[in-house]
Formats: sequence, structure tokens, C-alpha cells
Amino acid sequence: MFEALSSKLNGVFDRLRRRGALSEADVNEALREVRVALLEADVALPVVKDLTAKVRERAVGVEVLKSVSPAQQVIKIVNDALVEALGGGEGDTGARGLDLNAPSPVPILMVGLQGSGKTTTSGKIALRLKNRDKKKVLLASLDVHRPAAQLQLETLARQVGVASLPIVAGETPLQIAARAMDLGRRELFDVVVLDTAGRLAIDEALMDEVAQVKAATRPHETLLVVDAMTGQDAVNTARAFQDKVGVSGIVMTRIDGDARGGAALSMRAVTGAPIKLLGAGEKLDALEDFHPDRIAGRILG
Ligand code: GDP
Repeated sequence: MFEALSSKLNGVFDRLRRRGALSEADVNEALREVRVALLEADVALPVVKDLTAKVRERAVGVEVLKSVSPAQQVIKIVNDALVEALGGGEGDTGARGLDLNAPSPVPILMVGLQGSGKTTTSGKIALRLKNRDKKKVLLASLDVHRPAAQLQLETLARQVGVASLPIVAGETPLQIAARAMDLGRRELFDVVVLDTAGRLAIDEALMDEVAQVKAATRPHETLLVVDAMTGQDAVNTARAFQDKVGVSGIVMTRIDGDARGGAALSMRAVTGAPIKLLGAGEKLDALEDFHPDRIAGRILG
């Protein structure tokens, strides 16, 4: 992810560095190029405007342009603006991991479109909670629409080495969720991961079902899984889920592909929800915490 954006921005900044002294016109020219690079990376227009306006405001001050290394200062300002767009900033650039600070069993609701990587991510989260955080995890699939979905999660649970909710035919998603939480309480699980059904596109029935499950289980985290490769569609999906269901965090998958990265840079501004985790491959250990500062470093690196 970000390869094209990164190489374009580095080109702009290399030219800026070679100039030595910088005029306001030089900064404006560089910012025009930054703007084009961001738009080409599929960053949402309001985010591009806000980011370049911020950089211009901070960079054309006398102190920056008259400093010993003005190009370096401008690059630092762009870096800070990227960190802010990614949801960090104000001295707060720390990782956005999962928040499990609630009475056990902590319900985590996984939502998203079909094929976004929701089930795989449920398995990755279970593996991490089991190995790193020493948690006792129960996985439960609420997908009664796709016949193989519950079996897929059962197989995944076995691979990860955590429990999965026994499958009972004919139950509704709400009944499955209630049974999962009940088992979670009775058998002292720390975390219950509820994997909801997805659809190929947003529709009312899906949103209603997910909203009902959310109201019934009152999850501590509602994680929306989106595919980074789908660009602005991922942002639109996130906006819809945020409006209709409410999410506490976003997991962006397939960052190991050649996604342009615009979705990652737009998500916070458009939805208000933080990206918390990144999926970086099909393997179950390919899950990363989201660090706005490190991602900005990757873009400008
Ligand atoms: P769901 O329909 O949302 O539950 O999606 P799945 O979890 O079944 O994932 C769909 C496909 O995407 C599977 O082939 C996964 O192996 C793959 N996948 C999931 N996450 C990632 C990721 O971060 N990177 C890559 N390259 N593939 C992923």
C-alpha cells in the first residue's frame, strides 16, 4: 500500500531539497504537486483540501522559509499533517489497539461486507488475544445466510486453537448471539468474538440485522472490516456502517496488496472512527496495530 503515493511525494520533496532557499511560490508549487499525488492515491477531496490548506498555513511563515533547512521543515509539516489525517497528532501518535477494558466476557462484534476479510480477521484477533494477551476466546458466527459460513469459522477456530460456539441449525442471528454470550458467561471466557453476516453491497436488511445484534449484545468494540483495495468504496461503506450501526473502530485488510492508500488517509475525517488494526496478509498472524506516525513514516520514507 502507498507505493505510488510515496514515490510521488518523495519526488516532490527531492526537488524541494535541491532548491536550498525556498520562496512562497516554491512551497505553493510543491503543494500543488502534493495535492495531485493525494488525489491520484484516491484520498477524498475534502481531506486533500484540508491537508494542503493546513500545510500551506504552517509552511509559508517567515520562520520556516528563512530557516536553515526550509525543505526539511516543510517535509516535517507534511508528515505531521499526514499523522493527523490518519487519526494521530497532538502528541498522541500511539497505537490504536483493541480496547478490552470491560467486564468479561467482552463482546467484540465484527461487521462488514462479504469478502472484506471479516472471518479471517476474527481468526487473527482470536489468535492474537490467545497468544499475546493470554485470553480465553470464543468465536461465534452469526451468518445464517451463507451455509458454509459457520463451518468456516469453526475450522478457523480449530486452526487458531480457540473454542467456537457449537452450531445449531435453524437459529436466528439474535439467538446465536444470545447463546454465545450465555456460554461466554457460564464458561468464563474473556472475549466473545461475534462474526456477523456480510453482503456483497450495503442493503437495509443487512444493516437492520447488524443493528439488532448490536443492540442485543451491546459490544464493547464494534469493528468494521474493510478492504483497502476497494479505495473510496471502502470509505463509503464505512460511512454507511457508521451512520446506521455505529462502529468503534476500523480494521483495514489487504494492505499487503498494491492499494493506493487513499482510503486509509480518508477514513478518520470521513467517518470519525479510528483505524485500529491492519490486515497484512492471508496468514493468521498477519495482523498489525495501526500507528498513524509509522504509517506517515512509511508514506514519506
Ligand atoms: P469475509 O467474507 O469478510 O468473512 O471474508 P474472508 O475472511 O472469508 O476473506 C476473504 C478472502 O480474503 C480470503 O481468501 C482471505 O484469505 C483473504 N484475506 C483476508 N484478509 C486478508 C489480508 O489482510 N490480506 C490478503 N492478501 N488477503 C486477505
